[in-house]
Amino acid sequence: MSRRIAIVGAGQSGLQLALGLVGAGHEVTLVSNRTPEQFATGRVQSSQCMFGDALETERALGLDFWSDACPPVEGIAFAVPSPDDGGKAIDWAARLDRPARSVDQRLKLSGWLREYERRGGRLVVARGRHHLPMLEGVLAHFVCRNVRQIDAGDHVIVIGEVEHYDAFEGEPLVFHSGSYRITTRHPELDQP
Ligand SMILES: Cc1cc2nc3c(=O)[nH]c(=O)nc-3n(C[C@H](O)[C@H](O)[C@H](O)COP(=O)(O)OP(=O)(O)OC[C@H]3O[C@@H](n4cnc5c(N)ncnc54)[C@H](O)[C@@H]3O)c2cc1C
Repeated sequence: MSRRIAIVGAGQSGLQLALGLVGAGHEVTLVSNRTPEQFATGRVQSSQCMFGDALETERALGLDFWSDACPPVEGIAFAVPSPDDGGKAIDWAARLDRPARSVDQRLKLSGWLREYERRGGRLVVARGRHHLPMLEGVLAHFVCRNVRQIDAGDHVIVIGEVEHYDAFEGEPLVFHSGSYRITTRHPELDQP
């Protein structure tokens, strides 16, 4: 059964997931804060060395566009200088079981984003207040100031102060006690 799925963030995980879901026949909307051109001409986001399992997924999804041109990474070395004698406090090197590859993220993410659209995925690049991406077709937009974050064990509770909101026409869908429900007016509170 085909599902409608929204993914926020066009990074290594979000893009790969979006491409996988489009390939599996789902209707995917990917919300990105950058266009392919902005990825291509912007900064590298983090290091980019992909190891065996990640490369296997890329190959399975037909996304290993640069494997012929990109030289294999066959090992890792790590060293930390010693503050005392100018030597090394930590120094190790090892070979990888399977080669890794490091494709420039500006090339990779922009290329994957174009490929995602070419394969039929829907891309939303919106810039609202404070350059935040906004979803279209929703019932409300809230722009909140991050006031406090509380560590709640396996998740973090983010308390935001609403700075601005827009409300649009439509019926909200709510999730309560394990099911989706629609809302109705309370008889005692109903306004004529
Ligand atoms: C310095 C550093 C080095 C690393 N080196 C390696 C490495 O060599 N190999 C490795 O396997 N892993 C490495 N990692 C980890 C790797 O970068 C992450 O695991 C990986 O990027 C996570 O992918 P992601 O798609 O979840 O998040 P990201 O890659 O962070 O992508 C999230 C994207 O969503 C965007 N975004 C955020 N909020 C919104 C929003 N509200 N709306 C729209 N877009 C939004 C962000 O701008 C970003 O483009 C490194 C991480 C760091 C920080």
